[in-house]
Amino acid sequence: AKERGKNNFSVYNREMAALSLEKMDLDTQLRGALERNEFSLLYQPKVGLQRDVITGVEALLRWENQKLGFVSPMRFIPIAEENGLIVPIGRWVMETACRQTKEWQKLGLEVVPVAVNVSPRQFLEPDFYDDVLNALNSSGLDPSLLELELTEGMIMSDIERTVALLTALKDLGVRVAIDDFGTGYSSLAQIRRFPIDTLKVDRSFVRNIHHDTEGQAITSAIFDMAKNLSLTVVAEGVETNDEASYLRSSNCDEMQGYYFSKPVDEKRIAIMLSDHLPR
Ligand code: C2E
Ligand code: CA
Ligand code: CA
Ligand code: CA
Repeated sequence: AKERGKNNFSVYNREMAALSLEKMDLDTQLRGALERNEFSLLYQPKVGLQRDVITGVEALLRWENQKLGFVSPMRFIPIAEENGLIVPIGRWVMETACRQTKEWQKLGLEVVPVAVNVSPRQFLEPDFYDDVLNALNSSGLDPSLLELELTEGMIMSDIERTVALLTALKDLGVRVAIDDFGTGYSSLAQIRRFPIDTLKVDRSFVRNIHHDTEGQAITSAIFDMAKNLSLTVVAEGVETNDEASYLRSSNCDEMQGYYFSKPVDEKRIAIMLSDHLPR
């Protein structure tokens, strides 16, 4: 028994070592990734309740590394958040998304706002406002065409600073959305203290909404109160016709998800903007 205990312990150790080795590898490779031009953006459309109308796009970060291949943002963003690299990476995302959107505009395409995900560390940086301003100025993009996606936890941690910062961003004309809404601890009563435009209802509430009575109760409360606060509500992660039909008959304003389109590269989204959705 003693022997086995020992073995288990060493297996455990080896697993832990492998885990931290993988993390170290990610960390090491991330450090040179911006310089090596390994990041790119995909864009996923949001659509209005009327079919075919794209109301906005969300920029989603992709990383392809020579040694590691494609790495999901779910894996590398927490590490970049930890080592601080998310700040320059997030700056790159914002600049690239603004420049790309300005380019679509110059091509004469129907322009819709581009949404950029902001990480907690980035948002807490004293330079965050200046970074937004710089991305707008260097691209020449109209501020109303930039939307920042924040999460509940980020805005609740220092309410006074957040209100001041969001008010300054709103004064610029930038839009603000709360991402993954419903998964955090904030209530709509708290949310109304912030100058925001949009609530993105987390996809955990959208999944099978057509026969999930609990999900229906939660989302209809969110939709109704959002309407009273004049907020736009977006349902995330719509994957099926049944989910989309249910949402069309509810008080939801916009939808996003694989049912309409996966995130696609800038060439494909330009075609969608010039034409209409394939569906
Ligand atoms: P998110 O902001 O909630 O983005 C939505 C994620 O769900 C994306 O995954 C998207 O591809 C995926 N998705 C969209 N529609 C559907 C659907 O119908 N079904 C399912 N199952 N998934 C769907 P992705 O691109 O892997 O990004 C994951 C997360 O990584 C994002 O979640 C966001 O938190 C973070 N992220 C992505 N890009 C950035 C970025 O530029 N900066 C920061 N800070 N975070 C980012
Ligand atoms: Ca998002
Ligand atoms: Ca989300
Ligand atoms: Ca998320």
